Amino acid sequence: MRKIDREKRILTLMIKIYCRKKHCSQDLCEECRALLSYALNRLDHCRYGDKKGFCNHCPSPCYNQANQVKIREVMGFSGSRLIFYHPVMVIRHLLS
Ligand SMILES: [Zn+2]
Repeated sequence: MRKIDREKRILTLMIKIYCRKKHCSQDLCEECRALLSYALNRLDHCRYGDKKGFCNHCPSPCYNQANQVKIREVMGFSGSRLIFYHPVMVIRHLLS
């Protein structure tokens, strides 16, 4: 699997976890859906392509300010929880 596809999956998962816990929505609420499609779109246009690191370590973050704040919160919130839901994926992610 391409690195970017893997990152997309992780991102999707993180936003889902976040939304489920924070917004009590079964699927994604409108706000989170917008954030997700924004994030996926940014990934598609990432200048680093498959050589990229994880977004929160990026030397030239491409998110706009509002979404950057949101995605940070999502990652902070879901990052640790993801370990419980998908340990293998996270470990692979950390190793990559
Ligand atoms: Zn939500």
